[in-house]
Amino acid sequence: MRPPVGSLLVRGIGTLVTNRPELGQGALGELRDVDLVIDDGVVAWIGEAGASPATDSMLDAAGRCVVPGFVDSHTHLVFAGDRVEEFTARMAGTRYDAGGISTTVAATRGAPGSELRQRAAALVREAERQGTTTLETKSGYGLTVVDESRCLEVAAGIVEEVTYLGAHVVPPEYRGKEADYVALVTGPMLEACAPNARWCDVFCEEGAFGVDASREILAAGRAHGLGLRVHANQLSAGPGVRLAVEMGAASADHCTYLDGADVDALAGSDTVATLLPGAEFSTRSPYPDARRLLDSGVAVALATDCNPGSSYTTSMPFVIALAVREMRMTPDEALFAATAGGARALRRDDLGALAPGLRGDLVVLDAPTAAHLAYRPGVDLVRTVVRAGRVLGSLFV
Ligand SMILES: [Zn+2]
Repeated sequence: MRPPVGSLLVRGIGTLVTNRPELGQGALGELRDVDLVIDDGVVAWIGEAGASPATDSMLDAAGRCVVPGFVDSHTHLVFAGDRVEEFTARMAGTRYDAGGISTTVAATRGAPGSELRQRAAALVREAERQGTTTLETKSGYGLTVVDESRCLEVAAGIVEEVTYLGAHVVPPEYRGKEADYVALVTGPMLEACAPNARWCDVFCEEGAFGVDASREILAAGRAHGLGLRVHANQLSAGPGVRLAVEMGAASADHCTYLDGADVDALAGSDTVATLLPGAEFSTRSPYPDARRLLDSGVAVALATDCNPGSSYTTSMPFVIALAVREMRMTPDEALFAATAGGARALRRDDLGALAPGLRGDLVVLDAPTAAHLAYRPGVDLVRTVVRAGRVLGSLFV
């Protein structure tokens, strides 16, 4: 247990994005010239500037915009090596496929746990510096019982939301014996990994796992008490999105190639469409049709997909800028998807908005509005990050 954090006043907020339309103006429920108090990690009070109750400490936003902390609901942070040569070749015209994952699997299996921990922790700090206050991360580069377990132990030590992805790809030693690998993933590997995970994920894609194997893997995860997520329809049209809805998954991730039936299925479900435009950017691929999803009433989240192969970025501001410029999301929609959308994709009702009773996770932007995140792409606008009432790092002052 951490010691109590006391109370923190954030004063001088020029614009506060609450993500609760009933609390303020517009779709994001914006308030002007307010103060906010976080007590013992939880938002306790929002009100008129200068009228707050007394607190232990104070942070002056000096008229800046304050937004909820970013919720990055899809990353792969536990790995060794990098794939810059593959990236460079791709930028020169080589096509991306799922096969490059094996390169990272070999490097990860060969790396000591201390190296995996150190590297993943460095990526977490990198994400925090860019305003991310909640991270999900996955296994998926071990693909043996021992290596998946140790990757999940690393993950559980550094992030809040941990996902078992033994079904990332079929590893080379199981080529031609896919059924045996599925038996491992749903049997001994799952037994070893479930204690350190909240979620079970599968890469349902040609070249990875077919729909029947994916369903079997998700069902096994559910039987072990894990919530479900699916890597779906990233590289081609297919059954992944509809499988995610059928299985009641919290999220279908990527959603790059969708047909009308996929969109209808998502719209009539509790499954969030998590879009990962960093992957399309880094693989020079067509972006998902975010407008069609939003206009059909689908709940949309944005996340980085941070991984060494197809999206080596931890930056949610970059993802927001891509979503606005390349996927025609409005700045309000993109900010909401990167905060409240991510919280919903993780089925967390204590995150993703700033209102009394929710966790005190916020970002002070060096800008007057949240739209500046897209309007000023590539510029570091993150001034101060607060998680559960604690000011993170000393890098921001
Ligand atoms: Zn992924």
